[in-house]
Amino acid sequence: MKCALVTGGSRGIGREIAITIAKDHNYHVLVNYASNSAAADETVRLIKENGGSAEPLPFRVENKEAVTTALNKWHENNPESIIEVIINNAGITKDGLFALMEEEAWDSVVDISLKGFYNVTQSLMQKLLRHRYGRIVNIVSLSGTKGNPGQVNYSAAKGGMIAATKALGQEIAKRKITVNAVAPGFITTDMTKDLPVDDLKKLVPANRFGEAQEVADLVSFLVSDKAGYITG
Ligand code: NAP
Repeated sequence: MKCALVTGGSRGIGREIAITIAKDHNYHVLVNYASNSAAADETVRLIKENGGSAEPLPFRVENKEAVTTALNKWHENNPESIIEVIINNAGITKDGLFALMEEEAWDSVVDISLKGFYNVTQSLMQKLLRHRYGRIVNIVSLSGTKGNPGQVNYSAAKGGMIAATKALGQEIAKRKITVNAVAPGFITTDMTKDLPVDDLKKLVPANRFGEAQEVADLVSFLVSDKAGYITG
């Protein structure tokens, strides 16, 4: 069975990615989440409603031991299956001025995005290299490309993921494994629900926030066979 793992697949952008790649590419989707099992079950239900297949797979991406334990157990129970698509989507924000930023706000934001990318991707890498085909998509942010005041931690986490995407893409391209990053602006999800939409949408060329589905459609293309020459 060919599988795709979506971290943070229970809600928001991750949920739409999970639903879309199940529908577009027939992957069995592992819907990772941190704590919201009801939301993860709903993502699984929506995938099955479309005729697809999926299962929830909880672990906190920043905890290397939790990641490897969950993935090793899953492989033991599914010896014939291969996770050939990894979507590193789990992420949080803890915004505030850098001068007042507590260590916890730095560590948690960097650990979930950047260490989470390492923990999940590295755990699956040897199998992926032997498989000689794979798609890795990292969900980053405009904050990681241009930097955003009030988000020094988040900008650093996403900027780190962007650099890692470029480096890893070059490292494993010969094995037909592509590594790409998608950097959305404002997308309507729980993460942005308390932001002043009317003020912020003026900063967006399209004059509106994007929808999670619009991110998912690009990710689905990057996951497809058609995107085999796009990496890094
Ligand atoms: P969201 O609605 O807040 O959903 C976050 C998802 O991440 C949930 O599924 C959550 O699981 C999961 N998650 C959080 N911490 C986790 C952890 N430690 N381990 C595993 N999973 C964890 O966020 P979103 O807006 O969809 O954002 C998804 C990604 O897109 C993030 O990386 C974010 O930085 C990025 N992004 C978002 C925007 C935007 O405007 N929304 C823009 C650019 C980039 P639970 O349900 O269990 O909590």
